[in-house]
Amino acid sequence: MSEKITSVAVIGAGITGITTCAALQERGFDVTVFDRNRYAAMETSFANGGQLSASNAETWNRWATIFKGIKWMSQPGAPLLVNPKPSWHKYSWMAEFMAAIPKYRANTVETCRLAIEARKHLKRRAEASGFKFDLEERGILHVYRTKGEFDHAVKVNDMLAEGGLERRAVTPSEAHSIEPSFGKKFIRSMHGAFYTVSDFTGDIHAYARNLGKACAEAGADFRYGAKVDNLHHNGVGVMLQVTTKEGAEEEKFDAVVICAGVQSRDLAAQMGDRMNIYPVKGYSVTVQLDDKQSQDAAPWVSLLDDETKVVSARLGKNKLRIAGTAEFNGDNRDIRDDRIRPLNKWCEELFPDVSTEHSVPWAGLRPMMPDMMPRMGAGKKPGVFYNTGHGHLGWTLAAATAEIAAVSVLAQSRSNQ
Ligand SMILES: Cc1cc2nc3c(=O)[nH]c(=O)nc-3n(C[C@H](O)[C@H](O)[C@H](O)COP(=O)(O)OP(=O)(O)OC[C@H]3O[C@@H](n4cnc5c(N)ncnc54)[C@H](O)[C@@H]3O)c2cc1C
Repeated sequence: MSEKITSVAVIGAGITGITTCAALQERGFDVTVFDRNRYAAMETSFANGGQLSASNAETWNRWATIFKGIKWMSQPGAPLLVNPKPSWHKYSWMAEFMAAIPKYRANTVETCRLAIEARKHLKRRAEASGFKFDLEERGILHVYRTKGEFDHAVKVNDMLAEGGLERRAVTPSEAHSIEPSFGKKFIRSMHGAFYTVSDFTGDIHAYARNLGKACAEAGADFRYGAKVDNLHHNGVGVMLQVTTKEGAEEEKFDAVVICAGVQSRDLAAQMGDRMNIYPVKGYSVTVQLDDKQSQDAAPWVSLLDDETKVVSARLGKNKLRIAGTAEFNGDNRDIRDDRIRPLNKWCEELFPDVSTEHSVPWAGLRPMMPDMMPRMGAGKKPGVFYNTGHGHLGWTLAAATAEIAAVSVLAQSRSNQ
């Protein structure tokens, strides 16, 4: 029989790895976090859309998404871009995406429920450690430019309500009073909006970095610049083969939690688990609000523009984050000018008085499962666990899924005794 679990390795110091570390420490485990980068949250958890959005819980597994996707493929600057080069990984993912269409409603309700659960853990940890992360509790306004999309949003509202979320419809003029900085032309083009007062925004990188520091102060061992090349189970524990600049070495842990973003698929395969995560690229710009006019003209309320699939979040007085686009192009992090330009254009169209002279571009890979549901809990082999595959909602969900992952480690540890 296996022993009680004491030592746990977490692979990945993005938002999922750091929140998992905190949740494990809280349950008394001795945690070591490995990340191949020199610092925490340098990959997908670096410059995302900033939204903690239960209101964006709708999964994409609908025939309408597929038809829209086909239409977008021929439009430059559209929210979706697919590299047509054949790839088994991409096509198998797309086939599984379609196979998950019957679960669209149940998965949307469950995602919403998880997002609401995550809020309290996320805030509780920041308050307990006393760090700031540009938290803005001003709600999220989801704007629609066509009647068709707005009517669909009315149906989505039923699912969100079932998941426990209160989200109310507002007219364009109400939307304007909620966010007065909208340009008048945009308000005229708006059909309607939904406002979720309880949603909020914050800087994922600041949060992950600060929580990581708090975990280190509480005794977690963070190994940066340490790449986990191989994993195997020796029957008693999990062996990690780790490469650092000093060379390669092997270390044994009672358990491992894989939180490696888009790399989780390869690591899971080594442990005999199938996790068909695809790297869905997205882009952001961080508009530097250097002058008073831009600061006054930029929105404070977080936005989701349904037609362009662009989101925005105000990160303090001096920064406006704008993010969007989904690109199926494999493990490719190139920042393409033709994907960045629509984000700056969006800012200029909606907020004409904001200067985009200094706008910092970024690209990241969303670790996305075909059914858009994260995977957390035990794998096939004893001592192997996951908290990964959060796709477009890792910032929103990680604080809740980390609790679920840590509880499953604890349950297995107790059943071993
Ligand atoms: C443009 C864009 C906008 C987004 N906007 C939002 C939003 O508004 N709200 C929201 O909720 N979510 C949003 N997301 C999604 C969210 O950012 C991600 O779901 C989340 O950051 C994923 O976190 P992660 O910890 O799984 O992955 P990562 O942050 O990528 O962390 C994985 C870590 O694992 C490490 N790693 C991988 N392999 C190894 C290895 N072999 N050895 C050691 N270390 C390893 C990597 O170095 C990395 O640090 C957005 C994503 C993008 C791209």
